[in-house]
Amino acid sequence: MGYFLAKKNLAPYLRFLQEEKGLQVIVPLVNSSGATCFEELSEENAENIFLGSRTFFSAKKFFLPNREREFLFEPVKKSCRIHETIKHRHRVLFGLRSCDLHALDALDRLFLDFYGYDMLYRNKKNTTLKIGIECQKPGKNCFCASLGTDRPDFFDLFLWEKKDGFFVEIGSPEWEKLYSKKFLEETKEKKTPPKEACSLSLETNNLEHIMEKNFENPVWEKESERCLSCSSCTQICPTCYCFTNEDYFLPGEKSSERFREWDSCQLQQFTKVHGGIFRSSRKSRLRQFVMHKLSYFKQHHGIHLCVGCGRCIEACPVKISLAGIAETIQSGGK
Ligand code: SF4
Ligand code: SF4
Repeated sequence: MGYFLAKKNLAPYLRFLQEEKGLQVIVPLVNSSGATCFEELSEENAENIFLGSRTFFSAKKFFLPNREREFLFEPVKKSCRIHETIKHRHRVLFGLRSCDLHALDALDRLFLDFYGYDMLYRNKKNTTLKIGIECQKPGKNCFCASLGTDRPDFFDLFLWEKKDGFFVEIGSPEWEKLYSKKFLEETKEKKTPPKEACSLSLETNNLEHIMEKNFENPVWEKESERCLSCSSCTQICPTCYCFTNEDYFLPGEKSSERFREWDSCQLQQFTKVHGGIFRSSRKSRLRQFVMHKLSYFKQHHGIHLCVGCGRCIEACPVKISLAGIAETIQSGGK
């Protein structure tokens, strides 16, 4: 069984989730700079909801903010007392494309399954409901079908486009928190498959091992000659998760603060340790990014750390493509 949501009822339904269910509603929209991103729905931006293809900026910041306070701490005798400062609102993330849902699954595998106890991430995860939506037009850099991330999963509800509305597929028992008799009508209709295929593709069979065997392939040197080490690729990527910690000691205050902030393997300082920088060349940093995405993570966690969204290719000022590098390696080219 599924439900039907009429197109004319979409905006009223989102307002209902906000006003009647008391949820923070986060939607894809076009911001004042013209970029597509996810932001909290408000009266001012309700007209700018974006339902086309995937957004330029992903929803990652709602799980892993660019900068976030982890806790307050104060010295107590020879020890230290930690004060949690987490305050999370229950919320719904509307409009996630299939690749976005898979990207959040990759973050779950790391922050929930592997680290086991990341309080900040876990609390956000536990207070978030997810409504996905069919991607109506893959972008020119998308290759999600090659990674199997074009098939939606990990959602509470998923909207498939129909002529005058959406077929609403149920994905979890939590979906009832999003139910409204007024907006969701029972239907015998079925979902319809996506209309357009990706124009880019990548052979992923045994890719992780092929990449590893080509650690010294000349392609790394050649591609890195253009790389600016700007880190746009990692900042924009929905699955890049590296962060750094900073402690701020507050003069005259009882407690001090610890923050975590996004970091990037593309920046030289990222690998600065006592004794030097162990990835000082651009070649080694670019290779690390691509290898982590297409080889190492798959070997450790069973999935690629790339969902084929193409955002890094789109954002790179010199158009370096990890899919292109992998293809060069697969074809034996240098
Ligand atoms: S590596 Fe690039 S294509 Fe893959 S998920 Fe990240 S941004 Fe998307
Ligand atoms: S976005 Fe492009 S130029 Fe910038 S660090 Fe990444 S690969 Fe290099």
